[in-house]
Amino acid sequence: MTTDPFHPFATHAPYPAPGTAVATTGLTKVHGSGDTRVTALDAVTVAFREAEFTAIMGPSGCGKSTLLHCAAGLDTPTAGSVRIGTTELGGLSDRQLTRLRRDRIGFVFQAFNLLPTLTAQENITLPLALAGRRPDPEWLDRVVAMVGLGERLGHRPAELSGGQQQRVAVARALASKPAVVFADEPTGNLDSRAGAEVLGFLRESVHELGRTVVMVTHDPVAAGYADRVLFLADGRPVDELAHPTPGRVLDVMKTVDTRVRTG
Ligand code: ADP
Ligand code: MG
Repeated sequence: MTTDPFHPFATHAPYPAPGTAVATTGLTKVHGSGDTRVTALDAVTVAFREAEFTAIMGPSGCGKSTLLHCAAGLDTPTAGSVRIGTTELGGLSDRQLTRLRRDRIGFVFQAFNLLPTLTAQENITLPLALAGRRPDPEWLDRVVAMVGLGERLGHRPAELSGGQQQRVAVARALASKPAVVFADEPTGNLDSRAGAEVLGFLRESVHELGRTVVMVTHDPVAAGYADRVLFLADGRPVDELAHPTPGRVLDVMKTVDTRVRTG
């Protein structure tokens, strides 16, 4: 048993531990019922530090997306709890949860999910507009400068490459100065050069802009951009790696695969 609250096998989560951006305690998610019942997350207790870039890896179907969706308040746990900072998501009304998502959480999807009729600039500021919030101009300038879209800010998504669209999505996720940005396979639809750019921006969001990023990926090279890698198998954390390199990530991935096969 470990007393490090950030260790994936921690038996108790800190309450509230200083420097914790996101924490789950006994987080369990069961999809479906009867014959189609699947336990996607099996009592997951993990914590993500502020201003740290964590990659989540594991075999297909091991619960990575479910963990991200539950942690971001996009999906409701079957049991257990999620805290963003010191806010317990389970204690919030729908309206409070919507507000928390808009103000403190950013999400980047594999499929970009931009609105086709809006320009890049309008896509970036849409969540703020919906929340009735005036953007912090200095912050927004920094974010927009970071993703480097220049005159393409006036273009619509169809006029942008995949890499450019994902840069817009990263800027949109950061626009509200969120505590945490969750990214689910953000480079899954990109070639390696565009992917490297997006990964560089995510890392900059952490190391230059002080945000917390939690990213799902199956790519050891992408995981190499993170400060820490958390490995899941069968809905549970099974290993972790600090200061990952693609080679070390690959080595752990092989052992995780073996553990899954041998049960
Ligand atoms: P990953 O992102 O690691 O590939 P997921 O979190 O998407 O895994 O899925 C974990 C498990 O839960 C899988 O067995 C998947 O089939 C199942 N699952 C995910 N979402 C649903 C859903 N909405 N309904 C039923 N089963 C689901
Ligand atoms: Mg997934």
